[in-house]
Amino acid sequence: RKKKLIDEIYKVNKLAAMYFYNKLFSEEGRQALAYIKKRGLTESTIKKFGLGYSPSQGDSLLKFLKEKGYSEDFLVKAGLLSKKNNSYYDRFRNRIMFPIIDVKGNVIGFGGRSIADTLPKYLNTPETEVFKKRKTLFAINFAKKSQQDKFIIVEGYMDAISLYQAGIDYVVASLGTALTLDQAKLIKKYKKNVIIAYDSDEAGINATLRGLDILDELNLNIKVLSIPQGKDPDEFIKKEGVEVFTQLIEKADSLIEYKSKIYKKNLNMDSPQDRILYIKKIARDIAKISDEVKKEVYISVAAKIAQIPEDAVRTEISRFVNSKI
Ligand code: ATP
Ligand code: MN
Ligand code: MN
Ligand code: MN
Repeated sequence: RKKKLIDEIYKVNKLAAMYFYNKLFSEEGRQALAYIKKRGLTESTIKKFGLGYSPSQGDSLLKFLKEKGYSEDFLVKAGLLSKKNNSYYDRFRNRIMFPIIDVKGNVIGFGGRSIADTLPKYLNTPETEVFKKRKTLFAINFAKKSQQDKFIIVEGYMDAISLYQAGIDYVVASLGTALTLDQAKLIKKYKKNVIIAYDSDEAGINATLRGLDILDELNLNIKVLSIPQGKDPDEFIKKEGVEVFTQLIEKADSLIEYKSKIYKKNLNMDSPQDRILYIKKIARDIAKISDEVKKEVYISVAAKIAQIPEDAVRTEISRFVNSKI
């Protein structure tokens, strides 16, 4: 019975995706299409990702799907309608629609970006029988097919689509900032090299630090790409072009290099006290690493940065290991 419900949700989601897509190219979707094009997406990209437009009336998808025989209660279960005071209305109204597709090609849900000033800026399908946000990576359906032996993880729909359009076909988006263990496991199923390229604002930096630990625990090879000028990957690649972005990929930091950079930001490495503080912080990170080879590499990097002997780093690490902090 559950299997049947799941299949029905896939089916209605696909119908909804086609409905939104057609609306985007209709008179009603004129502004929405202009918005997407202004953001630099080509028609072939729009088609590739199946982007769409949800009309603003609030009952247009409802009418369309009711005519096809779907019940309102089922459409709520699918996450396409909302219910308030015993009346039903379209969950997505006046938004650019991003279909979210799983590894098998099923449409599991949608992200909708407001094109007016309506908040929230992005609205997703709620948790349903098939949409589990914590287990989902946007664009994994394309990225898993890439010839490249890596993934690059970005925050948002537009980051993923912009990079893809620029030829970076191994990009996935974690749909917001916090990377979960389930998402990391999904990554590991396909590739063992990952580059995190989150927004370079404070939220993005904090999410990078958390994401790093999760990916590292699964023993993935991690790099961090820092986007200059406080931008996100979409803004950056539009302004600077794909060549400059590719150079950033090549220059991406290892876990310890990145953490070192972040720690050093608030420290003066000419001061002995600050160098000690730095070693204490980085030793805590290194102590958590189980892979001995990796550990040795990180010890040598950390020692070099702090200009102290490697043994001093080892001593500090052993304090953490012994106290199990
Ligand atoms: P845009 O470029 O369209 O303005 P963005 O992707 O740069 O959007 P961010 O604020 O950086 O927007 O958010 C990154 C991602 O986090 C979004 O693409 C979306 O997946 C998710 N997100 C942001 N805000 C919300 C929200 N209010 N509810 C759910 N998801 C959100
Ligand atoms: Mn952000
Ligand atoms: Mn953006
Ligand atoms: Mn952003």
